[in-house]
Amino acid sequence: MNLALSDKIALVTGASAGLGYACARVLAAEGARVVICSRDGERIEAAAGRIATETGVSAIPVVCDLTEGEAIGEMVKGIFDQFGRLDILVSNAGGPPAGDFANLTPQLWEDAYNLTFQSTLRLCQAALPIMEKQGGGVILVITSIAAKQPIAGLVTSNAMRAGLNGLIKSIADEYGPRGIRANTIAPGYTRTERLDELAEGIAEREGISKDIVLSRWTADIPLGRLGHPDEIGAAVAFLASQRAAYITGQHLAVDGGIIRGTTG
Ligand code: NAD
Repeated sequence: MNLALSDKIALVTGASAGLGYACARVLAAEGARVVICSRDGERIEAAAGRIATETGVSAIPVVCDLTEGEAIGEMVKGIFDQFGRLDILVSNAGGPPAGDFANLTPQLWEDAYNLTFQSTLRLCQAALPIMEKQGGGVILVITSIAAKQPIAGLVTSNAMRAGLNGLIKSIADEYGPRGIRANTIAPGYTRTERLDELAEGIAEREGISKDIVLSRWTADIPLGRLGHPDEIGAAVAFLASQRAAYITGQHLAVDGGIIRGTTG
């Protein structure tokens, strides 16, 4: 399938590793011109180098801490100054602090809001006027299956991701008439460094091996395996393309079937 992403200008945030990196790499492989960001200059430059080696297409690295509103505004303005447009925004960052409700302090809630909800809000605030002016664009937000089915011990994620579904649904509604589509992608258990660390943490707390934690997760997945980051990237590339021109306001789980609900 030709996704016709050649020469589209894309911004993928939180892209030095994991799912963000995979989304950026797949978009680049499909021909898009990709700007990638994360907080650390060396890591994001290394990621851009890997994308160039793996796809033959160079990515543009930018340092931006997504918890800083001004930095987000400057980054998006910089893209507009350089390219005169922004076609695809993929909003992604690290996960918010873990914890049960009883253990979450006001500071942890604030951190979760800043990193997970407000970063997406600010990216949309910066990108939408550009997309509106150019007559179209696509916003994709990487959330989590926690948005569809709360996960024990990840209370901030459950709350923020469900909130993002509401935000993106509202944007899809308001900006659809202006040619802008907005969707979320809800990954299930997908093999990134962060997932390995999460498994290691649980293993340590419970005094079991990491492999047992991973096989527990896998046992609950109808497809019988963890996801691969490229599978999130493929969903993003499809939703970013004209092949998905009639899909907006949706929350797509890419989860091997782990969410059993029939709605949402
Ligand atoms: P990761 O930790 O491997 O990657 C996160 C990326 O975001 C890195 O590039 C990191 O540098 C960047 N980042 C973190 N904080 C940032 C900040 N303040 N400013 C700019 N960049 C920042 O995580 P991942 O596994 O790729 O997951 C990505 C997102 O998807 C997370 O929100 C995670 O909770 C969610 N998710 C992951 C899985 C999974 O199984 N991997 C499942 C469901 C949801």
